[in-house]
Amino acid sequence: MKQIKEPVLSGKPENELYIEMKTPYDKVIALSGNPNVGKSTLFNGLTGLRQHTGNWPGKTVTNAQGKYKHKDTDFIMVDIPGTYSLMANSVEEEVARNFVCFGQPDAVIIVTDATCLERNLNLVLQTLEITDKVVVCVNLIDEAKRKKIRIDFQKLSECLGVPVVPAVARKNIGLAELMDAVYDIAHGRIKTTPYKVLYDERIEQAIDTVRPKVAELVKDKIDSRWVSLQLLDPDSSLLTSLEGFLGFNLMEDKGLQELLAKAKEHMEKNGLPLCRLQDTVVSALVLRGEEIAKKAVTFQDKQYNRLDRKIDGILTSKIFGIPIMLGLLTLVFWITIAGANIPSQFLGSLLFGIGERLSEFFLKLHFPLWLHDLLVLGIYRTVAWVVSVMLPPMAIFFPLFTFLEDLGYLPRVAFNLDNYFKKACAHGKQALTMCMGFGCNAAGVIGCRIIDSPRERLIAILTNNFVPCNGRFPTLIAIGTVFIGGAIGGAFQSAAAVFALTGTVLLGIFMTLTVSRILSKTVLKGLPSSFTLELPPYRKPPIGRIIVRSVFDRTLFVLGRAVTIAAPAGLVLWIMANLTVADKSLLAHTAAFLDPFGRLIGMDGIILLAFFLGLPANEIVIPIIIMGYLSQGSLMELSSLEELQSLFVANGWTWLTGVCVMLFTLFHFPCGTTLWTIKKETQSLKWTVFSFFIPTVIGLSICFLVTQTVRLMGLP
Ligand code: GDP
Repeated sequence: MKQIKEPVLSGKPENELYIEMKTPYDKVIALSGNPNVGKSTLFNGLTGLRQHTGNWPGKTVTNAQGKYKHKDTDFIMVDIPGTYSLMANSVEEEVARNFVCFGQPDAVIIVTDATCLERNLNLVLQTLEITDKVVVCVNLIDEAKRKKIRIDFQKLSECLGVPVVPAVARKNIGLAELMDAVYDIAHGRIKTTPYKVLYDERIEQAIDTVRPKVAELVKDKIDSRWVSLQLLDPDSSLLTSLEGFLGFNLMEDKGLQELLAKAKEHMEKNGLPLCRLQDTVVSALVLRGEEIAKKAVTFQDKQYNRLDRKIDGILTSKIFGIPIMLGLLTLVFWITIAGANIPSQFLGSLLFGIGERLSEFFLKLHFPLWLHDLLVLGIYRTVAWVVSVMLPPMAIFFPLFTFLEDLGYLPRVAFNLDNYFKKACAHGKQALTMCMGFGCNAAGVIGCRIIDSPRERLIAILTNNFVPCNGRFPTLIAIGTVFIGGAIGGAFQSAAAVFALTGTVLLGIFMTLTVSRILSKTVLKGLPSSFTLELPPYRKPPIGRIIVRSVFDRTLFVLGRAVTIAAPAGLVLWIMANLTVADKSLLAHTAAFLDPFGRLIGMDGIILLAFFLGLPANEIVIPIIIMGYLSQGSLMELSSLEELQSLFVANGWTWLTGVCVMLFTLFHFPCGTTLWTIKKETQSLKWTVFSFFIPTVIGLSICFLVTQTVRLMGLP
């Protein structure tokens, strides 16, 4: 997506969508729907792109655009944010509404969830008020079948007056039919008769009063009935967008002003004040949705979601919710640590065996020694270490995490923590964005867009870094296993490591809540706003896909980043280690300079340097530490965690160093990508700088306190 050829919308850029790569022959398709209905899956199926999917609401907050060709036409598909309505109560709803209204898509696909069609019809009915170029895709019909829900698609299509296509996006079922229907709509081959909701008589009279004038002004550029209804109680953002779209301000028309005043007065006189207008409109939409659903949907098993509710009763209960959550987290770590040992050793001996052959090869061909040292001892060994030590835990941890995500467990975690966030005067949805941060902090920061209040969004952004992301988990797992597990030793080795990791995550959550509370009591004062958290239905996670996705999207991605960034970092380090100034290498100078600071906080100069050089990606902190030590002369074979431990111990590490490195891994500046995202999301250098210093100062202080206390107590 390189070239922006035709910007379709104008106005505030952050609230608008732009079509990229459009040519005059392309047809633009908007893909809309409630959150978590399989929009991303469908988008990926149609365009061949790979957007992240996961079973929780509010995850698609950035907009993807992709192309597909059907018959003789190129289609540009724009994934608009998942929303429950187009009432513009949040940034997402505003973006979605503006695109459907003013983006002039040639067709709108509304994806709905077959297992809760009634709730989804609200968005369908609202969209039908704006445009008649709609295709309704009823997705997840496999789930509906499982829950014994029968849908009469013919009837539904008759009721709505637009084509309805059933689909199982996950298995690419129904996609061909959907593309056919979209093709016909986009080319005007079928005439639709969209169902229009009839409102309360007083509202209808008000609409009738202003509609002729509105129609005269807007011509056929936009649906005059819908605009009339909106103008009765308009929000300022809609007026701005309307003005941008029409090229003039409707509200400046004297005739229209008078008619609007008359219409409002009439409503008020008849007992419908403006403040109740939106509620009345929403209840009519919900009622009509229910009526249509009744006609088209039959529940063969009336208690179809009894099991879901029973499970939720336990997983989100006051007594069991949190203990189960901790238990699951511990279990995931235990499986990861216990399972990673053997493959780690196997990979290690394999890769280091290859390393030896490489050395022999280099020496046989009489390569210069420095080149051999740089390539084999510097870069190859680091890469081999990264692969053998980081790959097995990741290959176990990420599929387990993705499994819980796809099952729909993360929104339950958010639900359990919701209360704590409220107590911290933060938004309940922050529990969700925090969970996203466990995957990637940059994604978590973007995810904060689901929080409407700017104050609470900022708090969520500033504290997202307190939970460890994919890039930091491998470091935590490795150090936890070697130094915490290793210090205890014996039968309890794994248990101690698991305990340390669970503790680290809990500490991260605790700090998120504490800092949120401090921020909301000081620089970001205010009261928390309320919201309803949707608990999506549990879905059977597709095991095959989970493995493929967690291996490619997460494991190999993180590993790739570690290796590609570690290699140039290795080069920098090698140069630093070999460039001598005043009889000492540059690396030794830098490490020696940083060393006193490092010692104060339980670490050393090399470790601090690694954290600094690790700014582009957290994944490379450990590889840099290893390179740092190796380049200082201790050339060792590192084929397993034990040998890693020996290297570190030879360089003066104790259990205290392990603890401090873990703490500082948890609490230090966000990685480069996250910082850049924070700058983009907050549009403020000040808050970006804040987000750099808050965790760093906390990390430095905690490490300092822990180190000094341990030393004062004379512990080993
Ligand atoms: P979005 O939030 O609307 O973009 O939804 P996603 O595409 O991320 O999908 C949400 C969850 O539903 C994911 O776990 C998908 O794998 C799953 N999903 C999507 N389509 C289907 C389907 O047709 N059948 C089933 N059983 N699951 C689906």
